[in-house]
Amino acid sequence: MSFETLGLSPVLLRALAEQGYTEPTPIQEQAIPVALTGQDLLAGAQTGTGKTAAFSLPLLQRLFVDRAKPANGRRPRVLVLTPTRELASQVNESIRAYGKHLGVTSLTIFGGVGMFPQVQSLRRGTDIIVATPGRLIDHMDQRTVDLSGIEILVLDEADRMLDMGFIPAIRRILGVLPKQRQTLLFSATFADEIKAIANQFMRSPAEVQVAARNSVVATIVHRVHPVDESRKKDLLLHVLAADSRRQTLVFSRTKHGADRLCKQLEQAGFRAAAIHGNKSQNARTKALGDFKTGRITILVATDIAARGIDIDQLPCVVNYDLPMVAEDYVHRIGRTGRAGAEGLALSLVCRAEEHLLRDIQRVLKREVEVVAVEGFSPAQALRTSMSADLGPRKPAHKQQQRAPKHARRPHHQAAKPSHHAGAPTRRPQGAKPKRFGQR
Ligand code: AMP
Repeated sequence: MSFETLGLSPVLLRALAEQGYTEPTPIQEQAIPVALTGQDLLAGAQTGTGKTAAFSLPLLQRLFVDRAKPANGRRPRVLVLTPTRELASQVNESIRAYGKHLGVTSLTIFGGVGMFPQVQSLRRGTDIIVATPGRLIDHMDQRTVDLSGIEILVLDEADRMLDMGFIPAIRRILGVLPKQRQTLLFSATFADEIKAIANQFMRSPAEVQVAARNSVVATIVHRVHPVDESRKKDLLLHVLAADSRRQTLVFSRTKHGADRLCKQLEQAGFRAAAIHGNKSQNARTKALGDFKTGRITILVATDIAARGIDIDQLPCVVNYDLPMVAEDYVHRIGRTGRAGAEGLALSLVCRAEEHLLRDIQRVLKREVEVVAVEGFSPAQALRTSMSADLGPRKPAHKQQQRAPKHARRPHHQAAKPSHHAGAPTRRPQGAKPKRFGQR
């Protein structure tokens, strides 16, 4: 299957070739032909599957290739809503890259930065707005944005917008948009609230789905290092020191924890930065930029801050803390093993997190390889098996503790990874392999 056969015009095909894309991903194959007809679309796809192009290409073609710009062409015609600022920036960058030869204008609207420059840009006029819901509502309240000309609405990562409490804001925004429009909704999962939005605000949408819920890219190696809580930091330093040039994204459950960890890493001589919700937009953008260019090798992030970060082919993600919600594990490790590259997802797990690991294994539908690192084995072995007897624990002195023979001792062999059909897997022939961070 090629992009030509999907019905895209030469001007878009040229931009795709320049991006080094040769073949559509499964979500692109399914979504593009439907969206090109103008029908509403519900698409089940998660980050890393190529979903941004799956909605951007048809909207660019429908509004800016097939139809000429209206005479009063300063009103925005497309609105894309995303859960985070980072995702808004990335979607905007992608739209600009794909629409490079069309003379399309687009801008981002999100909080954490000044309102005034956005007001000025909106006043100058734009074809496409990529926005987070909260700041867009601020502009609606101040009447600094005119949404009466919107012809296509995209809800990107709708499940995440639900998690972040944006559903009331989305309902408000949907309430002011023209009824005559096309709506494209992308979500990794379809909770009842999302289905309700679809039923109320979409017209007989077509449905496409590329990956079963919570399926994980097959090229990711999952590994757990058991450790006592008090030794986690030392184990992290040990693991990172094993390959100090490897770009690594480290997840911390809390903002405070991310800051503390970042400081400790810097004290140990690593080039690190933290991103989380309390950091200013400028600080977040700088940290992400430094990570992408390799100025820093370690980025410590909380779940929400990391959501939507587009870093391709990141070799390693470390869960310093396991997430409280197992589904977040899937989002976290979506940063590695992307676009067909191999990735490593390492989790440092202490006893208090045993139950979280079991939840994760249930979501992954497999047991994760447990590898003790010499010198860091916990005082009590972890009970991680999905079929673990959860009866009372034997006292520590009665537990069998075998010292690891080698530095790494697998307790369980990982089951065969479930195949995931969604991610872009092919590198363009003849093109240089893309380093992560390059678009
Ligand atoms: P997304 O799911 O939209 O965040 O895309 C994930 C990554 O895949 C992005 O870095 C895209 O640039 C890349 N990508 C999207 N479509 C293709 C394609 N057809 N071929 C190769 N890479 C792609």
